[in-house]
Amino acid sequence: MTLDEIRDIYNLPITTLIFRAQQVHQKYQDPAGVQLCTLKSIKTGRCSEDCAYCPQSAHNQTFVEPEVLLDTPMILKDAQAAKDGGASRFCMGAAWRRVYNTKQFDNIIETVKGVKDIGLEVCCTLGMLDAAQAMRLKEAGCDVYNHNLDTSREYYCKIITTRSYDDRLQTIQNVRDAGMEVCSGGILGMGESIEDRLKLLLELASMSPQPDSVPINALVAVKGTPLEDQKFVDSFEFVRMIATARIIMPKAMVRLSAGRTEMNDEMQALCYLAGANSIFLGDKLLTTANPNATDDRQLLDKLGLHALNPDDARKIHAAADAEGHTHEDPFAEHLEEGASSWAHACEGECGHDHEAEVETAKA
Ligand code: SF4
Repeated sequence: MTLDEIRDIYNLPITTLIFRAQQVHQKYQDPAGVQLCTLKSIKTGRCSEDCAYCPQSAHNQTFVEPEVLLDTPMILKDAQAAKDGGASRFCMGAAWRRVYNTKQFDNIIETVKGVKDIGLEVCCTLGMLDAAQAMRLKEAGCDVYNHNLDTSREYYCKIITTRSYDDRLQTIQNVRDAGMEVCSGGILGMGESIEDRLKLLLELASMSPQPDSVPINALVAVKGTPLEDQKFVDSFEFVRMIATARIIMPKAMVRLSAGRTEMNDEMQALCYLAGANSIFLGDKLLTTANPNATDDRQLLDKLGLHALNPDDARKIHAAADAEGHTHEDPFAEHLEEGASSWAHACEGECGHDHEAEVETAKA
């Protein structure tokens, strides 16, 4: 896949883009399923990294009150509450540059085992990990590790200077090698260009295998961070990114993550139409606000969507693979399918030559 191909997908008429995204979504995902996850900050603030968007960085003067690592029973209480509230995955985030082999990591290993025993999928996001640490987490029962690329390689240095893009890729490789699923995505609205966003998608989609989860975040501009004056990302640019991610990474869970408090119901519905199929439930996402869980439930009910069982999702992915949908050239495949669908639907009455439009788009 090339950047040009991704750009062509992103720039399709929005009607066609969402149609394409739905074609992929119906084939590779439970079309009405939305995975419900909970994200808990288990160690807050005073992080030595200088991520420009983050209220937890020690470089930024923000509202965040630092907290030491929470103890295991306290976290397990929240995990049980998350499960009782309908979550199928519990994500634990620690504001660390990297994991060190200390008593604190031993405590996290115990916590991972406890969350697993509750019957939840376990995800951790703890900063950089070496290969042995990744293996310990996997052996304790950690299913998934989140480590975002955030943005394009080119724009990255404007956002973070204390660790490199390649450091991030190495942690992702360590996670993959240990047998955990990879959750990796980015943040939109940090001053990056559309090209930067598409390059981020290219980086993610070029991983082999592709990430199992791709969170697409909208920046929540927090006072006291270098990005405090950034305007919220344009809604339609955001939806285009979701749809493009869905098309080029058909088996990934596309996670509608930070920034949902700034999105109305209609905008969130568009994101679901574009292929988003996971949200975080609960009033807080680490340290920033998240919609109320009751409102989320009501919206899902209104839209006729249901909580997704992640094992069912995996079965659907495997069945689609068994049917031979390879997606080596997703653009061409879906253009062809789209062409016949349009032609069939309008039988030429609209006066447009759809086959010619497809050829133009492919060119
Ligand atoms: S590494 Fe994580 S917690 Fe630390 S500053 Fe960056 S985003 Fe924030």
